[in-house]
Amino acid sequence: AVILALETSCDETSAAVVAGGRQVLSNIISSQVEVHRKFGGVVPEVASRKHLELLNQVVAEALGAAGLGFKDLDAVAVTYGPGLVGALLVGVSAAKAIAYGLDLPLVGVNHLEGHIYANFLVDPALDFPLLCLVVSGGHTDLVLVKGHGSFQVVGRTRDDAAGEAFDKAARTLGLGYPGGPLIDRLSRQGNPAAVNLPRAYLEEGSFDFSFSGLKSALINWLHRAGRLGGDVNKADLAASFQKAVVDVLVDKTLAAARENGVTTILLAGGVAANACLRAELARRAEEECRRVIIPPPVLCTDNAAMVACAAYYRFLRGAFAPLTLNAVPDLKLGEDRYEGSFVRK
Ligand code: ATP
Ligand code: MG
Ligand code: FE
Repeated sequence: AVILALETSCDETSAAVVAGGRQVLSNIISSQVEVHRKFGGVVPEVASRKHLELLNQVVAEALGAAGLGFKDLDAVAVTYGPGLVGALLVGVSAAKAIAYGLDLPLVGVNHLEGHIYANFLVDPALDFPLLCLVVSGGHTDLVLVKGHGSFQVVGRTRDDAAGEAFDKAARTLGLGYPGGPLIDRLSRQGNPAAVNLPRAYLEEGSFDFSFSGLKSALINWLHRAGRLGGDVNKADLAASFQKAVVDVLVDKTLAAARENGVTTILLAGGVAANACLRAELARRAEEECRRVIIPPPVLCTDNAAMVACAAYYRFLRGAFAPLTLNAVPDLKLGEDRYEGSFVRK
């Protein structure tokens, strides 16, 4: 099956064509990061307007790069939540128009399910159960994947998401926006053991996360350094912050894998592009003889290929969406919410 997927949940306008759930024929990603940079974050209304301006061109490019036309498609898929409602609506409306106009089945995809399925683009033959660490701008979830479309969240953040923590730390350090990639790059020149920052493990046996204390500790450290008038080595501070986040993420992921008897670990979401997290998770999982799948960075940050991949498995089980599909900004992993009706799997 050849699937065209659209992704407009935040500030990436993306369209991809994927064949058989694994062959990425095209994956066009138009990032609006330059537009939002001057505001220091994504402005929802601006994002929606930009999606509207860009989407038709991005779809045309995706089809062109795949060497296909609308007539070659077997289904059209779209992210319908979670995300910014106005941004989601642009993709959802376009996908419904294409599905209606061409009489194609419509597949509604959960954005986080999309992030997780980036791993099936890397290896479609993964055996369940799997454990996926989803670390993104809005989420930090440890997800037990029991089968296609079957998810159990065993841990989640109680305050900031990992990506949010990176972005706030970067702002505190005056590095700019978006913060994750900047901290990643600067950390390479820093010493991760230079500054002792707290790691929040919460109660014994908990797989939940908390990053707000770390954020405060960083701010307090900077204030104290400012009062004392000493030199602040930003690279050391960035590396120490990054290591504190990564240590907790990796410790809890491995603990959850042991607890649930899972041998294959997946990594997903924008923060999965982080070099330190990728290296540490791979190194420490190997020590325990666990396999780790880590998608290439371009499939970790928002993109439509991951949405097409998730859609393929929905397509196979006939999980289609009605043409009344609406954007659901607070959609949860493992639920389908189609206009008025609520279906939990
Ligand atoms: P969600 O997926 O939760 O809806 P989102 O789609 O906005 O949120 P993503 O695009 O998946 O989030 O990820 C963006 C986040 O990833 C940002 O917070 C960004 O700073 C972070 N990020 C991207 N690259 C890196 C990196 N190399 N190191 C650390 N963080 C990164
Ligand atoms: Mg983004
Ligand atoms: Fe995302």
